[in-house]
Amino acid sequence: METYATKITGLARLIRSCKKPIIFTGAGLSTNAGIPDYRSGMDTTVKTGPGIWNYKDDDSFWDRVLESRKRTLLATPSYSHMAIAKLIEEGLVEHLISQNVDGLHVKSRVPLSKLTELHGNVFSESCQKCGSVYYRNFRTRIQEDRTHDTGKTCDNAACGGDLHDTLVLFGESIPRSKLELSLYKAYHSELCVCIGSSLLVKPAVSFPMLVKKRGKLAILNMDPTPLDKISDVTIHDNCDTIMKSLMDELGITVPDYIQENRIDILKGDDSLEVIPQDLNHRKIKHVELLIYDEKSDMTTEKLPYRFKFSSETSQCQLRLHFKTGSKTPLEIDFEISQLSHGLNPVICKFTPSHHPKSPSPRPWTEIKFQ
Ligand SMILES: [Zn+2]
Repeated sequence: METYATKITGLARLIRSCKKPIIFTGAGLSTNAGIPDYRSGMDTTVKTGPGIWNYKDDDSFWDRVLESRKRTLLATPSYSHMAIAKLIEEGLVEHLISQNVDGLHVKSRVPLSKLTELHGNVFSESCQKCGSVYYRNFRTRIQEDRTHDTGKTCDNAACGGDLHDTLVLFGESIPRSKLELSLYKAYHSELCVCIGSSLLVKPAVSFPMLVKKRGKLAILNMDPTPLDKISDVTIHDNCDTIMKSLMDELGITVPDYIQENRIDILKGDDSLEVIPQDLNHRKIKHVELLIYDEKSDMTTEKLPYRFKFSSETSQCQLRLHFKTGSKTPLEIDFEISQLSHGLNPVICKFTPSHHPKSPSPRPWTEIKFQ
């Protein structure tokens, strides 16, 4: 009988030996990032609880959808997202096809040319005239009906086309170009690794089945799937647990997710305004300004985050406190005289903790004035 360890060894061997492996991901991949899935049963041990579809006839359904949206905005890539990005970077995986719309594959920096998001991405919007796709730090969809207009126009002023969100709603067709690219990649692949998908929904089953006709199939999922019976390697466990064992077996170190954010400090005659450009404002609990020489600290919870100061030479520390993720505030030390009048962009890099249950918050790694 195959043990867990022999399955991992077998999977690592397939990844190294098969030509042009592809990975296919579903909602189960993002439960470790705090986003509930759709189809986990009521007795699931998944941290985010039973899948949302279990509640489709329940009064709480809409609240659950809204909660899921909120979590999606705040989520950062899980270990598995980072591991997949690393496998692509190492050239061990040719292409990634995802059913997820949470944008975590893009955040984990999978090159866009290696990624097909079948159902779109909540953070992207596309120009209906020139086809440009833009990635934002907010949910682009503003409609609750079947329309997709985001009310904005192309970033290229010379084009001026209308922007639409990229989501494929229930009953709508997946864009033909995405389907064709996915079928092409599946047709030329000798291995499909399905991660965190229940493989119950079309076209989810088409890609692994197409690969299986000429190659191998691996299924990594918490619960059994209908394709387990034709799979060459099947492991039922948490995606992160499986991926950690797999990456160890492959001898590849997975980097932490580094979040890079721009924060603008606007200096006036006697005031500072703090504008976190790349951070979702709903993520910020409050902002503090400590002025050491005056022994005064100021806290504000409301936008715009504005502070008064009286001395030109004050040594300051700006602290941004977050609702989720790292408990450590983002700390920026500077002298007010260091700032030029007007706009001062600051770039902050840090490794946020992925989930409330993750081991411990990581320290901020780098802060610099641009
Ligand atoms: Zn355009």
